[in-house]
Amino acid sequence: MDYLIRRSIGRIPRVAGYRKSIRNYKVLALESSCDDSCLALLEKRPNQTAEVLDHCKTTLNSQLTGGIVPTQAHEFHQKQIGTMMADFASKNNFNRSPPDLVCCTRGPGMLGSLSASLQLAKGLAIGWNTPFIGVHHMLGHILVSKLPAKELISTPQYPYLSLLCSGGHTMLVLLKSLVDHEIIINTCDIAVGDSLDKCAREIGINGNLLGKELEKYVDALPLQTKAEFDEISTHSRNNEFDYKLRLPLKGPHNQAIPDNIEFTFALFLSSIQNHKEKYQLTERSKQFIAYKTQRFIFKHIIDRVNISLKKHGTKSSTNVKGDGKFAGVKDLIFSGGVASNKTFREMLQTDLNTNLLSNSDETNFRFHFPDVSLCTDNAIMIGITGIEIFENLQKVTNLNVLPIRKWPMNELLKVDGWIDIPQEQVNGIISK
Ligand code: ZN
Repeated sequence: MDYLIRRSIGRIPRVAGYRKSIRNYKVLALESSCDDSCLALLEKRPNQTAEVLDHCKTTLNSQLTGGIVPTQAHEFHQKQIGTMMADFASKNNFNRSPPDLVCCTRGPGMLGSLSASLQLAKGLAIGWNTPFIGVHHMLGHILVSKLPAKELISTPQYPYLSLLCSGGHTMLVLLKSLVDHEIIINTCDIAVGDSLDKCAREIGINGNLLGKELEKYVDALPLQTKAEFDEISTHSRNNEFDYKLRLPLKGPHNQAIPDNIEFTFALFLSSIQNHKEKYQLTERSKQFIAYKTQRFIFKHIIDRVNISLKKHGTKSSTNVKGDGKFAGVKDLIFSGGVASNKTFREMLQTDLNTNLLSNSDETNFRFHFPDVSLCTDNAIMIGITGIEIFENLQKVTNLNVLPIRKWPMNELLKVDGWIDIPQEQVNGIISK
């Protein structure tokens, strides 16, 4: 379907003469893949990064159910998204000045949750006669780092690595271009955010976002207590808590550099459960287990990433010379909800062996940490990604598409529904 031609027919006065006057265009973005209903309005100027004009978010409270129930999330979004949009539209004057592009998360995520905003986004695109783009949620988490942030040094340059750590995903991805992604490490069981939530619940921590509550709980421990805990080894049970916790996949039967590098998080919860079968938690053992669990989960991620740097870097280390797959990589983007954890950010900067990469040493390797508020699910990242797809790939999405529950990052363009549009039509929006 040719949205842009229909648009130019309907709005001749605004389009006429666009080649002479380059102006800004507005992008509406919607996100509801999990338990957050989110909207964002961005303004894009030619050859500049987008500016966030407004955004909002409401989150399903799953405290009583102890986790996200898909049917409840579906109902939540269906009830929320319409009224949120009505308020957002009137606040941002969409009646007089509707957005020029509508972007919405198409997947991956829970189908019921995704459908709520996808249907609304399609309806708005039809009503306003604008192009519509169905966006990949995880690519959004990565590309949100394109927004200027306090800690951002410069825009990452391809090829770069992204460590995506959230409630639904844990992966190290090599991005060679906007569409060329290779998953280097994935989890073989649950995601890190899910693991942190489950461990926190098992330890007895309460709240809606349990991983975040665990971080607060550990952060609040006195420095002296943390220093004491650091001195206590959990390599064997020979400690005051009779608690054993080692890094997974490091035993004598595991290869130093495995053929398939994976994350695994199931062990952290079972360690706590095993302990609770024998002992009742005291305040001190609760503090100890919370502290060690969070730290070891992050250590495990860094350990696996370091192994992949050895395997795919080019500099020699402990007699291992990498295969050079990461040649040219100088940037690492840290994204997803768990990436907002400050302890994790610190550990990553201290413990990652980036000097194993070619063309990089500790002085010129760049870590990119999106603002903490942009690490969790939001619609801003969906708008940023939609703009990238629209301007750089010259693609929009057909209105007949369905949400996608599982959508591997390396199959961005392999799904149905993409429509190529000529550059002149993109220009019709960019420079209307
Ligand atoms: Zn997410």
